[in-house]
Amino acid sequence: MNNDTQLMEPMPAPGPKPFETLWFPDGNIVLATDTYLFKVHKSMLSSQSSVFRDMFELPLVDGSQMDGHSGGMAPETFDGLPMVNLANDKGEDLACLLRAVYERQDNPQTPLNVVTSLLLLSTKYDFKHIRKDVIHQISIHYPMTLDNYGAMDESGSHLFGMLRTQCHFSLLGAAFTAQVDYLLPVLYYAASDFPADYILQQFTAGKISLECLKVLLIGREGLNSWMTIFVTTLRDMMASYRMTCPTPGCSLDIPPYSTKRFANTLDLKNIEGDKIMKECFTLLCPACSSHCAGKMDRWRNIVWDKVPILFRYPEWNVLRAKLEMVLSEDV
Ligand SMILES: [Zn+2]
Repeated sequence: MNNDTQLMEPMPAPGPKPFETLWFPDGNIVLATDTYLFKVHKSMLSSQSSVFRDMFELPLVDGSQMDGHSGGMAPETFDGLPMVNLANDKGEDLACLLRAVYERQDNPQTPLNVVTSLLLLSTKYDFKHIRKDVIHQISIHYPMTLDNYGAMDESGSHLFGMLRTQCHFSLLGAAFTAQVDYLLPVLYYAASDFPADYILQQFTAGKISLECLKVLLIGREGLNSWMTIFVTTLRDMMASYRMTCPTPGCSLDIPPYSTKRFANTLDLKNIEGDKIMKECFTLLCPACSSHCAGKMDRWRNIVWDKVPILFRYPEWNVLRAKLEMVLSEDV
């Protein structure tokens, strides 16, 4: 009983604690989240973010105003400094953002959770240069041409501190929320080549929203139709590609069921011309093989060109132009 009483001694009031490395002695504003407090500089935030600049210009300094809950309440203070309550943001996310504000860097080793936090919060608070840096990083790893995409997408490759395949859904969800439309089709494509139950798991884990899931499933179905055409008409396609060939033994015959293994893939890398020739059309003479491989790769590129449209976006060159415009903006 005594022990129980001891255990029930009053605990210090739970609440956000100062974040050590973002607690500047000469800071003149405190930002509060559910877990951490940050003592930073108004001028630093104002010079980089139009949202903070506008907020600090208001006579009443209170973050609740920006979240639409303005109720004419008195401004909060902490240690005599004005305090902005950013209750809707996670402490860890805001720490990522503020670190980027104070230590500008463009590092490909940045962990995935930092990349997504930076994208979401730089968009929310309009830190244009941080947003641009993050978009630049993501775009390098998700190029919009089939060859460049394939080169990045080696199996087992790593990105942002984890397996590349584990990044797709988090990046897709963040880019969707941050409305980086021109990066979405390539991220949708990356997220398509997974079984339905895995995709639903990503949704229930909160990585993508319902709206995002819907677009993903619709586009994925379209991609699946193209791959079905590939599997069912492969031999006919090759027959139409191949010229009359005088080489003895040159034949389009393929081992039984050899196309079956392509039935479940939505990854165009798996149907590269050379690969298809080596795995299925082993009886073609070298000239026919190389000719058909080239045709096959052209067909793959036609499907790649359809990808943005399958996800209801404009074609690649429009998306690329938009990305280039954003990256060339002086912010
Ligand atoms: Zn031949």
